[in-house]
Amino acid sequence: MPTSKSDIHFHAIVVDGHCDTPYRMLRRNFHLDEHDTEAQVDLRSLMEGGITASFFAAYVPPYYAGRGAAKFAYRVIDLIRTETERYPNQLSFSSGTDGIRDAKRHGKIAILIGVEGGHAIEDSLDTLRDFYRLGARYMTLTHVNTNNWCDSSGDAPRHGGLTDFGRDVVRTMNDLGMIVDISHVSDDAFYATLETTRTPVVATHSSCRALCRHPRNMTDDMLRALSKNGGVCMINFFSAFVNDDVAQVVMKARKRAREDPTEGGTEELPDDTTDWDAYLEWFNALGCPTATLDDVANHIMHAVNIAGVDHVGIGSDFDGVPALPNDLQTAAALPRLTARLLERGLTEFDVEKILGANFLRVFAQIESARR
Ligand SMILES: [Zn+2]
Repeated sequence: MPTSKSDIHFHAIVVDGHCDTPYRMLRRNFHLDEHDTEAQVDLRSLMEGGITASFFAAYVPPYYAGRGAAKFAYRVIDLIRTETERYPNQLSFSSGTDGIRDAKRHGKIAILIGVEGGHAIEDSLDTLRDFYRLGARYMTLTHVNTNNWCDSSGDAPRHGGLTDFGRDVVRTMNDLGMIVDISHVSDDAFYATLETTRTPVVATHSSCRALCRHPRNMTDDMLRALSKNGGVCMINFFSAFVNDDVAQVVMKARKRAREDPTEGGTEELPDDTTDWDAYLEWFNALGCPTATLDDVANHIMHAVNIAGVDHVGIGSDFDGVPALPNDLQTAAALPRLTARLLERGLTEFDVEKILGANFLRVFAQIESARR
């Protein structure tokens, strides 16, 4: 039986619901074992962080919607698979719960694929099925852009949630045994998805709106609905999603930039989807306050209180965000979060659920509902 807080962390199956490291590797042209000063995740920090399984995002920037989005997704899926094969002693490619448990048994890290941004399927269920065949085990229905069939929380709504085709996408994912990821979608799209799905759904990287008023976060009502659906909300670590002061600075700056396009000397708001370096520079110039490890712990405790301890997980968003809390700057710091949750009064059993057991339960249910 594990005795220390660190033992508890390394004994547990730890699943990170969303990791944008492939996006960093593409942007910066680094391999996983190469030293990149910008890396929030690399081979070493994955191991030091005691991560059992990480969903590497096949993220398709909204820029590619209608401009070869599927082709871009194939490219990232290939990168994830090739990069995983490069380190056979440390990593193993996985396409399900068995693979995650196997990796734990053999002391390896399971890498899984989640496609981020429903525009990637180019409105084709065949392409969705193809992504599944290539190993993708979830798809985030939108990114910050409303697509042809689903509304995003980061864009103007066009469909009152989901179109009929959008509902077909959800049903097809259910039939494939693919996780429906509702992070990023609008509130209406979230409820429409719950109405449509016959399996639990997952928010792979979303925090709580009651604590941090970002429209991308889940309201208490949404957390309760997700709990009723049997799903899991995996808490995002991005400073602007866990600390309300940071969120307010960022949202005010976005509003200013929208109203006055000359703000910051650019014609358009710098956006992480086309020019990450410009976005990073813009973000860093805002002078945001610093979020802390306690902010993340607060979101986890809030989600536990509202949705119940069986419906909470972690989805870092590492390498996809410009700022992380103090004491949680890279994946290597993850054991500190476990220690903090135990200090907050959660039992060892509860912490293990949050670290990965809840997600595994939901993923197994989705797998067995496959038709
Ligand atoms: Zn995301």
